Amino acid sequence: MRQQIVAGNWKMNKGLEDGLELVKGILEKTEKPKGLIVIAPPFPLLREVGKMIKVRKYFHLGAQNCHHEEKGAFTGEVSTDMLQSVGTEYVIIGHSERREYFKEKPAMLAAKVNLTLSRGMRPIFCCGEPLHIREVDTHVGYVAKQLKSSLFHLKEEDFRKVVIAYEPIWAIGTGRTASAQQAQEMHHAIRVFIAKKYGKSVANDTTILYGGSCNAQNAAELFSQPDVDGGLIGGASLKADDFAVIIGALKG
Ligand code: PEP
Repeated sequence: MRQQIVAGNWKMNKGLEDGLELVKGILEKTEKPKGLIVIAPPFPLLREVGKMIKVRKYFHLGAQNCHHEEKGAFTGEVSTDMLQSVGTEYVIIGHSERREYFKEKPAMLAAKVNLTLSRGMRPIFCCGEPLHIREVDTHVGYVAKQLKSSLFHLKEEDFRKVVIAYEPIWAIGTGRTASAQQAQEMHHAIRVFIAKKYGKSVANDTTILYGGSCNAQNAAELFSQPDVDGGLIGGASLKADDFAVIIGALKG
C-alpha cells in the first residue's frame, strides 16, 4: 500500500545524549502525523532511539546502511541480522554518499536489498542523478537504470515492500532543492518505469520519497505533488522544530 513517509537520515551526527534529546523534541512536537515517521540515527544509537520511539505507533526505526554479506570477517561492518536484532524496520540503501565515498555498486546494492527483505525489514532505496547528467537531460534514463540494476530482480511481492527515495545528487546538502515540478516529473517517470515492469497497480502502490535540501519552508509544496509521497530528510532532520514542520507537511 502506498504510504506517506517522512524519514530522517541523521548521517554521522549526534551522540547518545544529544540524539535522545532530539528524539524527545520530535516526539513532543509531533501530535498525530498523517503518515509514518522513520528515524535513522547512527548505528550506536539504534537501540536507545528505538526504545524511545516505541511508545508511538507512527514512529519507526531505520538504519543508514547494512553490509551486503550475512556475516563473517568484515571488521567494522554491521549486518542485517544485527540491525534486525535491535528492532530496525527500515534500512537506507544506495545513498549517494555510500555510492560515491564507499564505491557501492549496483550488484552490491541488490545484495543489500535482498538481505534486508529476507530479515523482514524494508529497504529505502535511494536513486538520483549527478548534476552533469541533469544538464544533458538524461536524468530519467539514468535513474531508470539504477532501479533496474538493483531492484528489478525482485518478485512483485518483495518489490511492494521497497520504498524509493529520489534524491538528485546536486540537491543533497547543497541548499539547492529540485523544484516541485522537477520532483513531480521524475517521480512520475519512476512510476511509469515501475508500471512497465510490475504493472500499474504496483506502481500506484509504491511509495516514492523526495530527498535533497527538503526543509521546513519547501516541504509542503514538494509533498503536494501527486507523485511525491513524503521525503527523506538529511540536514533538517537534525532540528526538532524543522523536522516537526516537515512531518506536518505530509498530505495524508
Ligand atoms: C540526504 O542525505 O538523504 C538528504 C536528503 O540530505 P539533505 O536533506 O541535507 O539535502
